[in-house]
Amino acid sequence: MEARFEIAGELYSARAFLFDKDGTLLSFDHWYALMAERARLLEKRFSLSRRQREELLSFMGVDPATGAPRPPGIVHLPRDEAEAAVAGLLRPWGITDALPGVREAFAELDREFPFERHLRPLPGASELLSALKAAGALVAVVTSDAASAARRHLVALGWEGLVDALIGVDICPARKPSPAPLLSACRALGVEPGRAVMVGDSPADLLAARAAGCHLAIGVLTGAAGRAELAPHADILLPDLRGVRVPR
Ligand SMILES: [Mg+2]
Repeated sequence: MEARFEIAGELYSARAFLFDKDGTLLSFDHWYALMAERARLLEKRFSLSRRQREELLSFMGVDPATGAPRPPGIVHLPRDEAEAAVAGLLRPWGITDALPGVREAFAELDREFPFERHLRPLPGASELLSALKAAGALVAVVTSDAASAARRHLVALGWEGLVDALIGVDICPARKPSPAPLLSACRALGVEPGRAVMVGDSPADLLAARAAGCHLAIGVLTGAAGRAELAPHADILLPDLRGVRVPR
């Protein structure tokens, strides 16, 4: 069944919606608390000095004194690149072959970090997911985070029943802007890409949508990229997800 939706007074229809996660459905806020916990765990695991932990924290994008965001950091990097970047920082400190330990520390927090307390849905995200479900649309989340971590996020938000498929870098190693993760999502949903809409906050999301042959590439300005960066790649550009209305 095609679900009908409306954007700026125009009517559209699609069988499936594919959403990026961070910056599209979820704010980046929880990342800073998570990075601080990752740094604490790595300090313990690799017996870092206090100065090294602070340097690590700054590198990860968190002000060691205040816990506030300190760009650029590694918050916007795909999971595997973030892990490799941290392992690379530790190497000159005499910690060689840190990557397996970094991966383990990150995975430990995927399981144990109190996401419920830190995750913040972006405006309109919960409402749109519920409305799409009610309208009979299929929904997938296509993220450059690990799907195992993303699944915990969905559960913490009570969204697991609203999402029919979840693709992360541990399921499909090719990352957006490659169309591969979107095509994986479409396969999992049993939907032709041409009947799917992709919604994302980065040029990579929209380029992947084009390459996959999605019906529409919708950009949202709730993430890292600005209007000028997204506009060339978006069929439609919205301030946030409240711009998509699903008639009952
Ligand atoms: Mg994003």
